Amino acid sequence: MNTPRILADHDLQPLNTLAVPARAARYAQVGDEASLREALSFARAEGMPVLVLGGGSNVVLPARFEGLAIQVTIKGVEIVAEDGEFVYVRAGAGEVWQDLVEFTLQRNLQGLENLSLIPGTVGAAPIQNIGAYGVELDTVFESLTAIDRQSLETLAFDAPACEFSYRDSIFKHRLRDAVVITAVTFRLRKKGELNTSYAPLHEALSAIPANELTPRQVSDAVIAIRRSKLPDPAEIPNAGSFFKNPIVSADKHESLKRDYPQLVSFPAGAGRVKLAAGWLLEQAGWRGHRQDGVGMHAAQALVLVNPGRREGEYVLEYAARIQRDVYERFGVMLEREPVAYVPQGETA
Ligand code: FAD
Ligand code: NAP
Repeated sequence: MNTPRILADHDLQPLNTLAVPARAARYAQVGDEASLREALSFARAEGMPVLVLGGGSNVVLPARFEGLAIQVTIKGVEIVAEDGEFVYVRAGAGEVWQDLVEFTLQRNLQGLENLSLIPGTVGAAPIQNIGAYGVELDTVFESLTAIDRQSLETLAFDAPACEFSYRDSIFKHRLRDAVVITAVTFRLRKKGELNTSYAPLHEALSAIPANELTPRQVSDAVIAIRRSKLPDPAEIPNAGSFFKNPIVSADKHESLKRDYPQLVSFPAGAGRVKLAAGWLLEQAGWRGHRQDGVGMHAAQALVLVNPGRREGEYVLEYAARIQRDVYERFGVMLEREPVAYVPQGETA
């Protein structure tokens, strides 16, 4: 067992892709379950709050965290089972997501190709049921293991227990900051139809007959499209989409469509409709807007960028202004996607 080194007054700015200035009173990296338990026990003994970090690509951090920031670096990817249809792959929570995707592509396994190049770690993927290009994690999720932050017990979750929904799970609600995920098992198909339903993907792959298409080709197309549109956090700090696409009733959609015939929307099942938040932001004039070092990306209005490396409090104030403006114009409240750790009361 490795005893985790607990460091004092640690700089978290390089550890979050929004690059907000942030420091933690204590910080530890944990590469195995025993170290994780030790770190959690230390925090409990000291009466310190805990903040769990993976790749820091979906968080808004406070300027100062008076507790223990634990970065999960638990590694390991292995095939744990196989049947006629599926291969089951288990990955440590600290594995880089794209490394897992690459592991599956090298074995021609299907399921993660549309989720190529999403930043962050395996352990964070279930938190918001990551999704892209028509595929969400829950379609390939088998189970996960986690450690309860209070009791230090090992827990197991199957898909229903995770309560997955659109960019959401139980880990953003009832179990927010309650468990640390240590490993995730995926159920990947050996063959079957690939999902190229999103228009840009469909266009990019239209020359290849569907029966010849490989997961690698889909992944390459996804990567090329993402690179052409999304800002690289290493160059322009960002946390990806800052708001979820709102899901509204069919009635609300109808009334908006009367006022805005160009409204971009998609069916979301059971009389519900998903609105493209990026379209709402563009109509409201936020695309490419900048103020005091923060703004909305010109090539993708849904991505909040932080070139000024402003503090999390300011980022959330800016986002709250956008939320109010969109609400006043369209009567739709945008929900923030990244998890914010800025103390409540300091932002709207
Ligand atoms: P972090 O930001 O470190 O953490 C996010 C939350 O998960 C925090 O609440 C943290 O406490 C918790 N957490 C992290 N690890 C654990 C763990 N082991 N156990 C328990 N809790 C944990 N998201 C998508 O869904 N689809 C996309 O296409 C997409 N594209 C993106 C593109 C860019 C350029 C960027 C910057 C972000 C994008 N994201 C996307 C958001 C982000 O990459 C994902 O949400 C990712 O899963 C976050 O992983 P992370 O390791 O960085 O999590
Ligand atoms: P896009 O292709 O320009 O599409 C704009 C929006 O329309 C997307 O948000 C997408 O919803 C929706 N959409 C497009 N085609 C659709 C279809 N056939 N059926 C249902 N919904 C459809 O989007 P983009 O910004 O370039 O992103 C491409 C994909 O990567 C999207 O899935 C997006 O979610 C994902 N992405 C996510 C993040 C993040 O941080 N969460 C960041 C970058 C990209 P959905 O978003 O629901 O798919």
